[in-house]
Amino acid sequence: MTAFKLAAIPGDGIGAEVVAAGVEVLEAVARRDGGFTFRVDEFAWGGEYYKAHGRMMPEDGRAQIQNHDAILFGSAGHPEIPDHITLWGLRLAICQPFDQYANVRPTRVLPGITSPLRHVHGKELDWVIVRENSEGEYAGVGGRVHQGSSLETATDVAMFTRPGVERIMRFAFELARSRPRKLLTVVTKSNAQRHAMVMWDEIATEVAQEFPDVTWDRMLVDAMTMRMVAKPQSIDTVVATNLHADILSDLAAALSGSLGIAPTANLNPERTFPSMFEPIHGSAFDIMGQGIANPIGTFWSSVLLLEHLGEDTAAQRLMKAIEQVTADPEFHTPDLGGEATTVKVTEAVIAAIRGANE
Ligand code: ATP
Repeated sequence: MTAFKLAAIPGDGIGAEVVAAGVEVLEAVARRDGGFTFRVDEFAWGGEYYKAHGRMMPEDGRAQIQNHDAILFGSAGHPEIPDHITLWGLRLAICQPFDQYANVRPTRVLPGITSPLRHVHGKELDWVIVRENSEGEYAGVGGRVHQGSSLETATDVAMFTRPGVERIMRFAFELARSRPRKLLTVVTKSNAQRHAMVMWDEIATEVAQEFPDVTWDRMLVDAMTMRMVAKPQSIDTVVATNLHADILSDLAAALSGSLGIAPTANLNPERTFPSMFEPIHGSAFDIMGQGIANPIGTFWSSVLLLEHLGEDTAAQRLMKAIEQVTADPEFHTPDLGGEATTVKVTEAVIAAIRGANE
């Protein structure tokens, strides 16, 4: 029997609540499957750790999780600590050195959930957004000088490398090929950003030659927001830069019914390092500790985790259990207009896993 080593990093705010639920569900699906188990190590890093130690994770933090098979992450963010410190000190401090360059964000309207787009039902909105996750606008290149003077200057330089763009483009074409519609939209802003974005377009054209069976088109990011709302059924797989896809995937999450549902995989496709799975939402301090955080985003992220580990049967079983539960409004948390608690949703998903047929 395979024993997977799972690193759980709850982080801050509702992260602790949804990761605890995610671990319970993963253990339940492993028990139901019988072919594998999880050995879970929990790492209490984040805002509280920062307040005690002046850093978001220990200096050797990455070494502590480097040999795990996967990471389940909650969220990083603290009301008393600036966002750029919590983000760079934990999430990006893991994603970037572990070269998790492909950020994959599936979006669907799950059964029982209403999209804010009128007349859109499940099958008309079925997307995967691939976000470049290692460079671009979030490369960390830039600086700030003359603070406090009238000459204060700040730069954030978007940095794109040919290998970085080629690998994400190839990943996106391959993903598009694996889906029934074999349809990819490459998003840029190459009319206004005339250097790196033009290189993206060129590389897309080059890589497309290797995938003659994939239909692809190009779209400027502003026009893409309109297309997502006006013609959602015309979209399947999308690839975009770190910043553009960050924004598009929040819109996608909202269109799917709630930020609380949306999942993410931060993949190191070469498997040199562990990959990390997390809900798209952040710490949501407004609802922290109330027991009403929607755990579905973490459960769906756990489906992606199981797929990454090659446990496809268990992944499908968990996805089916999630869909069975969302279909019943009794199990909707307040963000979906219901009254269910995190515990109630978790118990329902575990019951559905237990009851699921092969
Ligand atoms: P951060 O700064 O860490 O990104 P945030 O509070 O600014 O966090 P999010 O956590 O992404 O932003 O969420 C915005 C709002 O959406 C929250 O204030 C909360 O009301 C709601 N929300 C987000 N996630 C969930 C969830 N899992 N369940 C219920 N509501 C949620």
